[in-house]
Amino acid sequence: MCMTMKELLKNNKIYEYGIVDFEKLTVINRRLLPKEQIRSVLFVLMPYKTGNVFPTDGYNMGLFARITDYHLYFSRLSEKLLPRLEEISGGKVFAFADHSPIFEKEGAAKCGLGFIGKNSLLINPTYGSFVFIGCFLFTKRIEEEIRNCDLNCGDCNACTKACPNNAIGDDKIDTKLCLSAISQKKNKAIEDKIILAKTKTVWGCDICQNVCPYNKQAVSSPLLDFDEDAIENISAEMISTMGENEYKKYAFSYREKNVISENLLTAKGKCDIIK
Ligand code: SF4
Ligand code: SF4
Repeated sequence: MCMTMKELLKNNKIYEYGIVDFEKLTVINRRLLPKEQIRSVLFVLMPYKTGNVFPTDGYNMGLFARITDYHLYFSRLSEKLLPRLEEISGGKVFAFADHSPIFEKEGAAKCGLGFIGKNSLLINPTYGSFVFIGCFLFTKRIEEEIRNCDLNCGDCNACTKACPNNAIGDDKIDTKLCLSAISQKKNKAIEDKIILAKTKTVWGCDICQNVCPYNKQAVSSPLLDFDEDAIENISAEMISTMGENEYKKYAFSYREKNVISENLLTAKGKCDIIK
């Protein structure tokens, strides 16, 4: 990677990145691929745990849902980066995060940005697993930039033991049992509500991340913008009084308000079905 591109990323506080040839990656959604031939992919990590958010509500809620939705963060970042990346590479560049044509987690691991842990998350040696992944697809070939990462879970089983719903299997997560997936379902069965109530889960779940030794030694994120509108004390009342623009700042807004509101009532033991 040329110095200009490195400088550009550094100036935007992106310190964990890698480039890999497109042919080495797994395409998971061909329909999202640009019509142009893609030759290289730049992966960037956006760590989001700054250490400045201190929840006081006692709910099990993923940090990603308490802070600025990373799709918004990435869209602001890519607006800044895209024109410069096109200028530097001399070709077209396309940005994706989450809703991507390629398997981002595997691609980031192929660049040496971390390894995939037993909790199925990418674990970066510096920032741990509290990282979002974004990628830029280039029509021009860019020299590969691959780091060496020889870390792994080893004998550790902390996440498997800590998972309150035994969702972590030998080689993958059972999403039917994962509280994060259950909390985001639109229509929940009674059993879903019971487990959300028991674990006071509102949206997402960080239990398997919080126990991970790689997160205990992780460096805090320098991306302080993530905390701008952090929610430390969430309630159904707060959600109901949020204006549309305010609501759209958070990752849970891809569902209607009633989904998270019902979860909040369930977690508070105020849902009729579980009485
Ligand atoms: S997010 Fe929560 S429920 Fe899902 S695997 Fe991790 S600890 Fe288990
Ligand atoms: S808690 Fe242990 S087993 Fe689980 S992902 Fe972290 S290192 Fe791997």
